[in-house]
Amino acid sequence: MSSQQIPFGELEAVFFDAGNTLVHWDHAFVETCAAELGFVLDAARLARAEAAARPRLDRLLAAGRSTEAPDTMTAYLECMLDAGLAPEVGSQRRSHFVSQLAAALRSPGGSDRLWSRVPADIPESLARLRAAGLALVVVSNSDGSIERKLRDAGLRDLLDDVVDSALVGAEKPDPAIFRHALARSGRVPHRTLHVGDLHAIDVVGAQRAGLHAVLLDPHGDWLEPPCAKFADVGTVARVILAARGE
Ligand SMILES: [Mg+2]
Repeated sequence: MSSQQIPFGELEAVFFDAGNTLVHWDHAFVETCAAELGFVLDAARLARAEAAARPRLDRLLAAGRSTEAPDTMTAYLECMLDAGLAPEVGSQRRSHFVSQLAAALRSPGGSDRLWSRVPADIPESLARLRAAGLALVVVSNSDGSIERKLRDAGLRDLLDDVVDSALVGAEKPDPAIFRHALARSGRVPHRTLHVGDLHAIDVVGAQRAGLHAVLLDPHGDWLEPPCAKFADVGTVARVILAARGE
C-alpha cells in the first residue's frame, strides 16, 4: 500500500509499536556491554548495523519466529554482524560475542537500559497528535514490562493505553492483539494507523486486523516488501497533522 492510500486526515487513533518505534536501543549502553566483554565497538557503527539488521531479522520473523523467543536476541545480533559488524568482532570470537552480549542485553537490568532511548522529537509528536484529538495506544510484543518501561521513559502519560502481548495472551502479528486494543479504546480499524519497525510483525499484523500501517525505515534499508515507509515517528506525526490542516 502506498502512503497515498492511507487516509491520514481521517484517522481517529494511532497505534504504536514500542521497541525501536518509541523506545529505542541505547547504543551507547550496548557499546559499554560489548567493551566489558572485550569488544571495542563504536556506538554509531552499532546503531547503523542494528537498523540494517531489521530486514534480515524480519525474514526470520516472517517464517514464524516470535519476537519474544529466548533466542531472538541472539538472532538479532547475528543479523547485526551480517549487516556490517562482523569484521570488528572477528570470526573466531563471533559465537562468544553473540551469546554473551545477548545474555547481557536480555537480563532484567540490561533489557531496561537497552530499551530506554527516546528520540528527542517523540514526546512533542505524541503531545501534538493527542492535542489534535487522536487516541494514542501502544501495542507491544513484550514480557509484561512495557508499560513500566514507557513510564520510566517519560512517555506513559502521553498515551491513552498500553497493550502488552504477555498480558493479552496474543502477540503481533496475531490480529487478536490489535482487535483487543481496538476494543479497549473503542476505535475502528479503518480509522486507525499502526506505526512499527518490523514488517512481518507490525505491518502484517495490523493489516490482518484491518488497520492501516506504516513501516519505520530511517535509512532506506527495506527494499521489500512494498508498504508505506517513513523515516521516524516525527515524520508520521507531521504528515497526519498536515492532512488534518493542523
Ligand atoms: Mg519494534
